[in-house]
Amino acid sequence: ALTIGIAGLPNVGKSTLFNALTRAQVLAANYPFATIEPNVGVVPLPDPRLNKLAEIFGSERILPATVSFVDIAGIVRGASEGEGLGNKFLANIREADAICQVTRAFADPDVVHVDGKVSPKDDIETINTELILADLQTLEKAVPRMEKEVKIKKGDAALLAAAQRAQSILESGRTLFSAADAEKLDLSELASLQLMTAKPFIYVFNTDDAGLADEAFQAELRAHVAPADAIFLDAKFESELVELEPEEAAEMLAENGQEEAGLDQLARVGFHTLGLQTYLTAGPKESRAWTIRQGWTAPQAAGVIHTDFERGFIKAEVIGFDDLVEAGSVAAARAAGKARVEGKDYVMQDGDVVEFRFNV
Ligand code: GDP
Repeated sequence: ALTIGIAGLPNVGKSTLFNALTRAQVLAANYPFATIEPNVGVVPLPDPRLNKLAEIFGSERILPATVSFVDIAGIVRGASEGEGLGNKFLANIREADAICQVTRAFADPDVVHVDGKVSPKDDIETINTELILADLQTLEKAVPRMEKEVKIKKGDAALLAAAQRAQSILESGRTLFSAADAEKLDLSELASLQLMTAKPFIYVFNTDDAGLADEAFQAELRAHVAPADAIFLDAKFESELVELEPEEAAEMLAENGQEEAGLDQLARVGFHTLGLQTYLTAGPKESRAWTIRQGWTAPQAAGVIHTDFERGFIKAEVIGFDDLVEAGSVAAARAAGKARVEGKDYVMQDGDVVEFRFNV
């Protein structure tokens, strides 16, 4: 499964956030497929559509899609030089499919900041600098080798050109993910080099009540990290929220003027950042969301349920979620002409309610 690595300076609230994530996982642990590893938090992706489907089909249980977060050892200045847990950190972060950077944006005189002051922008710069330096080291080794190979016509000239452009972006102090659009750099071309700053980034600002209420402060930081997504949450509050019954938690959120728990936002944004989407199946046993990549075809999607489904795929009966809810039942949706029969070239859409037909 794809994972998101949680990274950040020491003492910014990573463990607090991660503990909240793993607690959310324990609560949702009626998952038949959840293996619990100490440094991985598998959290459910909130999806109100599943409740609606469970109502329509009288499902016994609901199985949402999940998002996996990996706790990565704290980064310190000098990590790219092997300081502290540097090498371990870099190895862990290379394995993650996206990077969630946690920065401190709460004022609390009792909690020491490693750099002596609370400044999310400086935290981001410190972390990004380490990642940029590590990527530059990778390229400084790879580029000369690639140049030689291209010279004797054995190398990939397009890859070399992309690597050289990446090098100049990194030298200008920018991450590849943040500069790719503006520089028209196709990050997928660089995939073989496993560069860390080419991964999608999410920024979590661990803030307090004042920060959660301050729209100007949020807008400024959002603009600062764009095109990456930014999430503002209070990790301490989130860790208390997961201890509550759902109704109580909803009340607490409402009192705080929040529409959605920070963890739910994080799961949603993380899922999207990884380029994932869901389709839905429903019946009397369960209503369930299945994770696929954006752009996958019907047989590929069927393969997520079982590899036999992909091999023996015949067709899929697809009803859009809204159409199904409007009709009130599969039979009514069929009668209204809202059930489509799709073949092997059909590209799945988020929220498709599907029944596959296949040969075994
Ligand atoms: P880590 O080193 O990044 O994993 O940070 P921790 O999660 O261990 O948090 C460091 C300290 O900050 C602990 O004493 C936490 O209780 C505290 N802390 C974490 N999040 C918050 C927060 O949102 N508000 C406040 N006031 N304290 C927090």
